[in-house]
Amino acid sequence: MIEYMRLLFKILLIIFFSSNNLFSQGRLNPVEIPILLSGTFGEFRKTHFHSGIDIKTLGKEGLRVRAIEDGDLIRVKVSTSGYGKAIYIRHYDGTTSVYAHLKKFSSKIQQIIKEIQYEKEKFEIEKFFKEGEIKLKKSELIGFSGNTGGSSGPHLHFELRDSKREKPLNPLKYGYLVIDTIPPKIQNIFIYKFLKEHIYEKIKIELRENGNSYSSNDTIKINGIFGIGYSGYDKQNSSHNKNGIYNRELTINGENVFSYKFDDLIFPDGKKIDLLIDYEAYNVEKVRIKKLYQTINSKFSFLENNDSNGLFEIIKDSLYNIKIVFEDYNKNKSIVKMVIKGIENENIFNNSETDIEEKLYHPDIEYEKKYKMLNLKIPQDAFYEPTNLNFEYNSDTIKIDKFTKAPKKGLNLEFYLPKNLDSIDLRQSCIGKISIKANNKKNKIQYVFGVKSDSLINAKTMSGGKYFLTKDSVPPSIKPINFKNENWVNNLKILKIRVDDKFSGIKKYRANINGKWILMEYEPKSKLLFFEFDDIKFNTAELKLNLYVEDMVGNVNEFKTSIYRKIFK
Ligand SMILES: [Zn+2]
Repeated sequence: MIEYMRLLFKILLIIFFSSNNLFSQGRLNPVEIPILLSGTFGEFRKTHFHSGIDIKTLGKEGLRVRAIEDGDLIRVKVSTSGYGKAIYIRHYDGTTSVYAHLKKFSSKIQQIIKEIQYEKEKFEIEKFFKEGEIKLKKSELIGFSGNTGGSSGPHLHFELRDSKREKPLNPLKYGYLVIDTIPPKIQNIFIYKFLKEHIYEKIKIELRENGNSYSSNDTIKINGIFGIGYSGYDKQNSSHNKNGIYNRELTINGENVFSYKFDDLIFPDGKKIDLLIDYEAYNVEKVRIKKLYQTINSKFSFLENNDSNGLFEIIKDSLYNIKIVFEDYNKNKSIVKMVIKGIENENIFNNSETDIEEKLYHPDIEYEKKYKMLNLKIPQDAFYEPTNLNFEYNSDTIKIDKFTKAPKKGLNLEFYLPKNLDSIDLRQSCIGKISIKANNKKNKIQYVFGVKSDSLINAKTMSGGKYFLTKDSVPPSIKPINFKNENWVNNLKILKIRVDDKFSGIKKYRANINGKWILMEYEPKSKLLFFEFDDIKFNTAELKLNLYVEDMVGNVNEFKTSIYRKIFK
């Protein structure tokens, strides 16, 4: 085993250095270690197709990140969500490189950004620079890898875009080498038999697995209109991560029916991602089954043929050879083969037809249900397609079952606020939600953002759950982490304070020392606020710190303390 590891390490080193040489004329690896992926381009995420690659950073933060090519710094964004701290460099070949979730920027960029933050008195900023304003050299240090924003573990999100159209490109097409000799793994294949236009029955196909080829045990005997779905992933060498598959092609009797691969994307594709998965399986069973058909013409930019919806009709006594080829970027293939034979239509569903019809909510019709304490509005285009939606009202709670079809605009809830509330009760009133889970013993209440008028709170919802009127009367908590009141903090470089809000969450905060605004960086995952003493030279030893924190409904906590620090000249 040790020998093997040593050999593998040697191979990796050789490839790393030779690849660096190979591309010394081209783009540089943004990190100083061989590229291992924890995410591939195009892979399915909750609300989007992954627009870059996730480069592993040895499980830690702080790896040097370098510019892949000469270019102009055109944009820097600092956010507690999304890309966190991110840098955008426009190169002279028409591409832009993006580096996201950074821990911090290089001192050159950090200085520029801090100046803007102090000027605007804001931590979260976005700054666009003019072309040529700040030039960066290839391999110049631009920042350090991190875990900021919507990242759930240390890594570098790296993106290449077509600068003109802001179109994300698959970085692997542009010279980045990833060792991958492992074909995609297919977990399950499903056949969706359509009973009516938007109603189907899901059939799991038993597959025999032989290396990278999969086949159904027997000829599948069915009839009617069908689509196919799959679950599976792709792994690269030396990494355990289950990443997305690059290419898939469905052919029936040799004819290409539905295929797409991820060479590039457009951002609007992500808005419709739920149309390319079995939404019910994802939402209810938490299994992501990707569809090789579409019931709504979603016009994804990456679909090979947007005119073919991937659905096919099985005719009695005909044979259908189904072949699905899955391929990773390094051309490792897995192939699924099935044979379907058409049989007589059994017509078993005809009787239940009217039952099914009755419960459907149609996207071209607006519905409204009025209850004692609330209105439930199902607007036009609440869902992409006719949807079976179940809900029940009980005393003060509306329970909406988990959606089985992808929401487009979602539902609107309108809660009547009780009359004669005093101003504090009125401010603290909000909508709470309990998720519907199989064994939800904890019954944790989530805050639902709502817009308040005199007598109503309005909320939009994209998911089922139990919704009710509640209140948040607890202000955020504030706790110093690495200092105490009235203490000397000469050796402290960074001041850390933990802030937390149990229900509605933190909306804003503001800190100053001796009356002057200070930059406190906020990391919601660790619930920490940071201040770097190097930012400001104070001319008194006593530092009067004042921190104001407000939650989403306006409950406020204020923390005041004095600490002492030698005056640095
Ligand atoms: Zn990413």
